[in-house]
Amino acid sequence: MLSLRQSLPKGTRLVAVSKYHSAEDILTAYRAGQRIFGESHVKELLAKHETLPKDIEWHFIGHLQTNKIAKIAPFVGMIHSVDTFHLLEEISRQGEKFGHRIPCLLQLHVAKEDTKYGFTIAECEDMLREGRWRDLKGVEIAGLMCMATNTCDQEDIRQEFHSAGEAFIRFKERYFPDAPHFCERSWGMSGDFRVALEERSTLVRIGSLIFGERHI
Ligand SMILES: *Cc1c(COP(=O)(O)O)cnc(C)c1O
Repeated sequence: MLSLRQSLPKGTRLVAVSKYHSAEDILTAYRAGQRIFGESHVKELLAKHETLPKDIEWHFIGHLQTNKIAKIAPFVGMIHSVDTFHLLEEISRQGEKFGHRIPCLLQLHVAKEDTKYGFTIAECEDMLREGRWRDLKGVEIAGLMCMATNTCDQEDIRQEFHSAGEAFIRFKERYFPDAPHFCERSWGMSGDFRVALEERSTLVRIGSLIFGERHI
């Protein structure tokens, strides 16, 4: 894991995806210097946050229901999976309640599977153009996230990350020119992070390559 982290380009951070893995596994990675961990279920995240070291930065990467935001809002370091404006509003409401801005990524749907959540690039741009997000005081839009199609075809995967990267550049120019915090591109998992790095990912979310297969 240490070598994986060291092999990343400067400016790219590793999110160790620890969902379904034990607190003991997380501690092993923690002792090797890892501090950012990703979880995709609120209940599991709460239990781990409760018992594990307090300087862990917890990123939420799964589908988030609005009625569960309040539980993670006090401590979550970033929410990667904002897929509707309504969710963004609700996160903001909780962020304000706790007196901070919660860093959020807008999740793009670029994969061919229709099971994956997210805005299409056009929907995301419509939302940004419309501008109501500018009034939200409890969130900070920190960039974009996407998942590629689950396929062996590296060129298909590259194309999807590339589209997300182009959207990032366009959105940055049009909507976040004076916002240095809009800087994150969260793409790449165990099977496709090398392609993601070539497509300028700044956050790779890697689970099974670090912790082994999940037993669910
Ligand atoms: C589980 C998960 C990952 C990690 O997947 P691996 O293939 O185990 O690396 C990354 N991102 C999201 C959104 C996930 O749900």
